[in-house]
Amino acid sequence: MKVFTEPAQLQKWAEGRRKAGKKIALVPTMGYLHEGHLSLIAAAKRKGADEIVVSIFVNPIQFGPKEDYARYPRDEKADLAKCRASGATAVFFPTPDNMYAKNHSVFIDEKQLGRTLCGARRPGHFRGVCTVVAKLFNLAKPHFAVFGQKDFQQQAIIRRMVRDLNFDVKIVVVPIVREPSGLAMSSRNTYLSAEDRPKALALSRALDELKRDVRREEELDWAPRRTQIVRGLRESGLNVDYVEAVDAETLSPVETLVRGNVVLLAVYCGGTRLIDNAVM
Ligand code: AMP
Repeated sequence: MKVFTEPAQLQKWAEGRRKAGKKIALVPTMGYLHEGHLSLIAAAKRKGADEIVVSIFVNPIQFGPKEDYARYPRDEKADLAKCRASGATAVFFPTPDNMYAKNHSVFIDEKQLGRTLCGARRPGHFRGVCTVVAKLFNLAKPHFAVFGQKDFQQQAIIRRMVRDLNFDVKIVVVPIVREPSGLAMSSRNTYLSAEDRPKALALSRALDELKRDVRREEELDWAPRRTQIVRGLRESGLNVDYVEAVDAETLSPVETLVRGNVVLLAVYCGGTRLIDNAVM
């Protein structure tokens, strides 16, 4: 497995692999890898990639000034071992300084899908995400890139970026990997205390109940359900950031919840921001 820290090294290698006719997959991550990340690597393998590049970069420009950039969990050694064991063929481990010139001044700003949900709560977040993903596309030269449904709005925005800017990269989206308890895996789960964990289960519980009810009743009037869910999450000890039901493609809010719509939740559990979602 190759390990690159310099953007130019990765780019040169990727160009060589392309010339040799190899199919390159990119798996962008912020590291502290868990089974969710590894399922993206497995999907890349399943889809026939010859080279699987995992990027591990806690991207400073997608964090707000009051967010957890400095304390975001990092474990380079464990991440490398997991990449090796799961079949990655290259890891890209850049530093912020070699990703961003001191006078870096070009950003990608998606103007529609990013106005709601996490985009509304985390100003500049998706601008940082789109910018770094575009850079990673230019460096790793992937034929396809793999993202998780866990960050539902993120994959929608990346797909829009690829369409609108004609990136020649196919986007593959992989289902959410959960702990046996139902909690969606996340690097940030490491922040949760023993008292926080049972509270956090209210997220997946609420989504499971909704899925069951949509299956049974075909249509649900969203407003009363939303009120009920907000109350349930609060009673479980969570601080609600948002509870929204949207169209899966446009991310516009729906009034009647039907199959194929997506329900997205964001809460604070202790000091930790958790997100979860489910396609009905
Ligand atoms: P992160 O390191 O949290 O930025 O995530 C990197 C990629 O892994 C993103 O495409 C995420 O959506 C995906 N991912 C994170 N957690 C999960 C999970 N529990 N299941 C599936 N994909 C995930």
